Amino acid sequence: MKGPLAFLAKRYIAGPERADAIRAALALNKSGIGAIIDNLGENVTNPAEAQESVKEYLSLLDDIRSTGADSTISMKLTHLGLDINKGLASRNAETIIRKASELENFVRLDMEGSAYTQATIDIFLDLRKKYPNVGIALQSSLLRSRKDSRLITSHGGSIRLVKGAYKEPASIAFQHKSDVDANFESMMKTLLLTKTRPAIATHDAKLIKEAKKFASEKNLSKDSFDFEMLLGIKRALQRELAKEGFHVRVYIPYGRNWLPYTIRRLSERKENIWFVLKSLFER
Ligand SMILES: Cc1cc2nc3c(=O)[nH]c(=O)nc-3n(C[C@H](O)[C@H](O)[C@H](O)COP(=O)(O)OP(=O)(O)OC[C@H]3O[C@@H](n4cnc5c(N)ncnc54)[C@H](O)[C@@H]3O)c2cc1C
Repeated sequence: MKGPLAFLAKRYIAGPERADAIRAALALNKSGIGAIIDNLGENVTNPAEAQESVKEYLSLLDDIRSTGADSTISMKLTHLGLDINKGLASRNAETIIRKASELENFVRLDMEGSAYTQATIDIFLDLRKKYPNVGIALQSSLLRSRKDSRLITSHGGSIRLVKGAYKEPASIAFQHKSDVDANFESMMKTLLLTKTRPAIATHDAKLIKEAKKFASEKNLSKDSFDFEMLLGIKRALQRELAKEGFHVRVYIPYGRNWLPYTIRRLSERKENIWFVLKSLFER
């Protein structure tokens, strides 16, 4: 990793190799925290690249099994060829999910920008008919997500609820953080009651507190949902929740294609912009 963003990438990404991600997962496991490993990559433009990604995920599943790491996996359909065609992405996803099923592992489809929302849900619903070990992510920033959530949970699908990392226009998305947060809270409460094992994926301490309060008021078991966070963010809170007996998983990205992911993390926090600018003037 080189350039002004490289030092930031090191905070958020395990390293370039699969072994780096496995090492990070095993270290988290020691504190009672599970992992979700993601091979970085998106928007591939030829089938050979998509095939490489499938191969890497199959090896990743083998390595998770052979090292005994407590880790699921997460992937983006555009890394598997969604920009080339939907059928290719779906077949590639199925190859990985089938192997994960044989190894009793779980695969979550990340949610990308709004151009891919419908295709991601279509592919998910299709695969979910055959494979109970697949889940999906939905973004509380999108106006459509509440409806999508109802549809997916009616098929028993597990949803990772996130705020959303992509800038979307006012015609389809909430533009104020307070609205995104309010929609997150409301969707989160609905999901917690669905018995579909949702993942509450946020670092927002207020929303996490609200989830804990709601779960306790409704007598929900700590085994009925997960908290998920990203590598390098709110580490103390991750450990605290695990100590309290909640299921916590941390999303661990690895790979050489680290720039788009790092830019998304950078834009979530204005302090990060200052770090980058400062580093440009430091020797
Ligand atoms: C497990 C997991 C999987 C995800 N998968 C997806 C996905 O599939 N699709 C998608 O669109 N988005 C995904 N996201 C990203 C998500 O949409 C948000 O962009 C991200 O989580 C930041 O929002 P927040 O909920 O933490 O709330 P915010 O209100 O943005 O942040 C709450 C607090 O967390 C801390 N924080 C947040 N971001 C950062 C950062 N980058 N660096 C340092 N501190 C930070 C700050 O203290 C901040 O005040 C995922 C997030 C998680 C945790």
